[in-house]
Amino acid sequence: MATGRPPRVDAHLHLTRWWPDLAHTAYRADLEYNSRGLLEEMDAAGIDFGLVIQVYEAPNAEEALAESRTLATASGGRLRPVVTVDPTRGEATVHDAIGLWEHEPTIAGIKLFPGYLPFYPHDPRLEPIYEFAHRRELPVLIHQGDTLDRKGLVKFARPIEVDEVAVRYSDVRFVLCHFGNPWVEEAAELVYKDENVYADTSGLLAHPSAPYFREMVAECRRRLHRAIVSVGSAERVLYGSDWPLEELSVAVALVADLDLPPADRERILGTNAVRLFRLGERTAAPGSS
Ligand SMILES: [Zn+2]
Repeated sequence: MATGRPPRVDAHLHLTRWWPDLAHTAYRADLEYNSRGLLEEMDAAGIDFGLVIQVYEAPNAEEALAESRTLATASGGRLRPVVTVDPTRGEATVHDAIGLWEHEPTIAGIKLFPGYLPFYPHDPRLEPIYEFAHRRELPVLIHQGDTLDRKGLVKFARPIEVDEVAVRYSDVRFVLCHFGNPWVEEAAELVYKDENVYADTSGLLAHPSAPYFREMVAECRRRLHRAIVSVGSAERVLYGSDWPLEELSVAVALVADLDLPPADRERILGTNAVRLFRLGERTAAPGSS
């Protein structure tokens, strides 16, 4: 792990055997999609910690959590679990998942997938999850904007739909994933208005073989810069990649080359996430004290 500079954290990664259709979506077809491959790429990109987000396709909360625990242990605590549950599977599914998470000290956050799944962030079925997040002081990450799945309904994934719960649960911290893309301005408004709302920079780029990829990187950087300037602060912006969709070094460069004061770039690249996810305090890996 690198020393002599603030810690760097990727706040949005996926590594799971339930990733559907990986070969068509990873940034590179021959990617080593396991903890060794991910940790090597993190080392090369200078990233100390990663939040590995479960996917809703996992068969149940037990198996998803077992996989997360294995990753936390195999990485010596560098990979921290973010758990999820599909609220459309019913009240009992949500209740059982929370019952399981209740006794799991390694969890760094909770993710919700509106857009991929048909529910709004203010759906009453989510109330037990927000109450758990409040009780355990866990941030809630919310998928925003475009979906890889063409059957997804992006109307559920607009930043404006998060405003109501952000106001109602003012002591729960919310992360708008993908900076709300394409509704980056709308996401910036929430980050500006709601002091408990953050945004991550993950998954903004298309596959590197896409036409205009280089122009897209430059355009994304301009949009991020505009959003951060309009918020007036970089305190609640988090670097993330959405690996394996984006190459870590490319995702880091998107932020590292932003025309902002160096201290703000370091905030986005890690220190904001260390504070938000309390990475220095929480139990890193199963069995550690
Ligand atoms: Zn993601």
